[in-house]
Amino acid sequence: MNFLKRHFKLLAAIIAVLLFVQIPAASAASISELKGKQQQVEQQKKQLNSQISQKSSEIKSNQSKQQQLLAQVDQIVTQISKTNGEIRQVEKEIGQANDKITKVKAQIDELQKKIDERNALLEERARALQASGTVTFLDVLLGANSFVDFIDRFSAVNTLIEADRQIIRDQKNDQQKLEEQKTVLENTKRKLEEKQAQLENLKASLNSQKQEKNRLMAELEKEQQKLLSEKKLLEKQYSEYLAISKDLENQIAELQRQHLSKAQSSGKLPVSTSGFMKPTNGRLTSGYGWRNLGNGPEFHYGIDLANRPGTAIVASADGVVTYAAPLSTYGNVVMITHNINGQIYTTLYAHLRSFNVSVGQTVKQGQKIAEMGQTGRATGPHLHFEVHIGTWRGQKAGVQNPLNYISL
Ligand SMILES: [Zn+2]
Repeated sequence: MNFLKRHFKLLAAIIAVLLFVQIPAASAASISELKGKQQQVEQQKKQLNSQISQKSSEIKSNQSKQQQLLAQVDQIVTQISKTNGEIRQVEKEIGQANDKITKVKAQIDELQKKIDERNALLEERARALQASGTVTFLDVLLGANSFVDFIDRFSAVNTLIEADRQIIRDQKNDQQKLEEQKTVLENTKRKLEEKQAQLENLKASLNSQKQEKNRLMAELEKEQQKLLSEKKLLEKQYSEYLAISKDLENQIAELQRQHLSKAQSSGKLPVSTSGFMKPTNGRLTSGYGWRNLGNGPEFHYGIDLANRPGTAIVASADGVVTYAAPLSTYGNVVMITHNINGQIYTTLYAHLRSFNVSVGQTVKQGQKIAEMGQTGRATGPHLHFEVHIGTWRGQKAGVQNPLNYISL
């Protein structure tokens, strides 16, 4: 981006100088018009870009909300299946309790039947004894052969009756125990049914939670669709502006080419046949190409010529000043565009303490343009000198080893 800005600044400078020199006002208006349009387009692009990144972050946050919800739904589903398992277990236990209750009931009924039968038997015997008075009983007793026999028979009858009563008492006892067992079982069953009801409630609540989360999820998905389509629209607008911007750039470049050729044909950009000269009196401290100043390998796009601060720097060939301003780590910079036997070159002079030329000015080879310094990123006073084929389009574009053009 910085590079682009610089690039535009330079482009503007080149255009300005060429316009200044010789371009009719009508053309000037159209170039500045194009430039104005381009600025507007750049503004629009910037705005769209920030809107797009805003949408992107909204989409991201929506995604993370969806993920959170999904995790919550997963948890709820796990709880539901756990609850279902518990419900099944409780149902099984209730079934078992029911079976036991049924069995105990049957046992109670069985006992009741036996008690009833024995009661009936006893009543019948008592009635028989009553109906016939003591006759039958006496008959039994009178059938005795002796007193001892009589006593024996008497006790036997008594014992029989007593035994019947004892059996009934025992059966009643057993029945009572079974009733108690039944009560315990019914209590257990009731508790299990309460638990079942609680579990069913829990399940219902979990299901409604799940439904709520699913509803939220659907909302988020809808919102996400909306955001995505909005972003798509913004991106479409951006690409339209990008195309417009490209088109404007091409138009400006085309106009610049026309201006450059007019400047050349009218002689305002002097044609030199003498080539380049050493731009300052200094000793070569760093050549063109790869070097390492301690920050890892880097490419050196020019040569360094060192001398005392203030040493005069001269135009390396006839030309037009196309840049005269600070430029990033280069410090103060002058650029001169030359026509050497019909070939366009641009020379660059950096780290200048000061310069005494301005954009659009025609300079002659050997004319003083600046003084040596160490502005920008420089460890000592020196001139950083670059040679490019064509106009300046960045460090790399058309860059040449200056030592192929000048001799030291
Ligand atoms: Zn350098």
